[in-house]
Amino acid sequence: MIKRIIEPSELSKFKTIVESVSRIVVTCHKKADGDAIGSSLALCLILRKLGKNATVIIPDQLPDSLCFVAKGIDYVTFNRSEVMAGNIIRNTQLIISLDYNSFGRVDRMKPCLEESTVPKVLIDHHLNPDKVFDVVISHPEISSTSELVYRLADEAGWLHCIDKQVASCIFVGIMTDTGNLAFSSSYPEVYHVMSKLMEYGIDKPYLYKMAMDTVPLNSLLLQSYALLNKMTVIDDKYALIILDRSDLEKYGYKTGDTERLVNRPLSVKDVFWSTFMREDPDCIKVSMRSEGSLAVDELCTRYFNGGGHKHAAAGEFYGTMQDAVELYYKIVEQVKNEEHNKNEN
Ligand code: 5GP
Ligand code: MN
Repeated sequence: MIKRIIEPSELSKFKTIVESVSRIVVTCHKKADGDAIGSSLALCLILRKLGKNATVIIPDQLPDSLCFVAKGIDYVTFNRSEVMAGNIIRNTQLIISLDYNSFGRVDRMKPCLEESTVPKVLIDHHLNPDKVFDVVISHPEISSTSELVYRLADEAGWLHCIDKQVASCIFVGIMTDTGNLAFSSSYPEVYHVMSKLMEYGIDKPYLYKMAMDTVPLNSLLLQSYALLNKMTVIDDKYALIILDRSDLEKYGYKTGDTERLVNRPLSVKDVFWSTFMREDPDCIKVSMRSEGSLAVDELCTRYFNGGGHKHAAAGEFYGTMQDAVELYYKIVEQVKNEEHNKNEN
């Protein structure tokens, strides 16, 4: 049996609310990744098996690369069907927030969620959730929100609601958030969960190929170009990749095309901090990855209106790319000083 981790009071509050309502909205963060969409669809399907009228509403369009997860499952995209999605949220009896810890992460859906007076449940693995939720199932020590959904189903007595489709969604979420069990997964139980999921007859080679090893040609070319021409490595330790509007246009950039690019410099020996800046239409998107003691979520929170996890975080910069880069070099000086002080002690 997998060890119970969910606070009994939160679990029982959650079960009581679910039992007392029929209409439920399940939401995830904007620019959904495999964990956000995998956990949301999985929980929605479980709730439907429990007889609930559950709807997944994602803030913005799912990248093409993740459409395979949602194949045959209906969901609503808020910024494409704002009126309908707004009505569903106004009429729902329960809102569940998956894989994000603040309404600042749901784009234009934010006011609808904030205005709603129905109970709000958080199921997430990011640090420091906002204090707006009535039930908080927050576990930063767990690999992914998808793993949490499996554990929740287990602890709530809903395992009978898991089938091959649900197991596949959860599997993809765990696989993508851990880089195929490379990080955030150094504890035995995540493997117990994976092994349980295999029992549902999921097609692991297909899910791996689709989730981890399939990109459009333009994405492969854009990422190759970025590494070859747009990467700077400072002192052999810190890597910065910058893609501006013209780079993105040259390669026909679409959401998802730079997925995992920021991880690549970490495969160079001695590089332990990687930063990627992308000029989006509304801001400079900043993604960071690190190894060892450097906590990039702190840097992203402090300097880039963002957050995330110790070794994988992101945020947004409102200003020019030049200003963003200048700020980056100030942070480099700070990181260097901290490293220096650490080595002195
Ligand atoms: P990525 O670099 O893959 O976009 O994001 C890395 C991590 O940072 C993910 O855990 C994601 O949830 C979190 N993250 C991404 N963008 C933002 C953001 O704008 N704000 C906050 N708080 N977290 C973010
Ligand atoms: Mn996640």
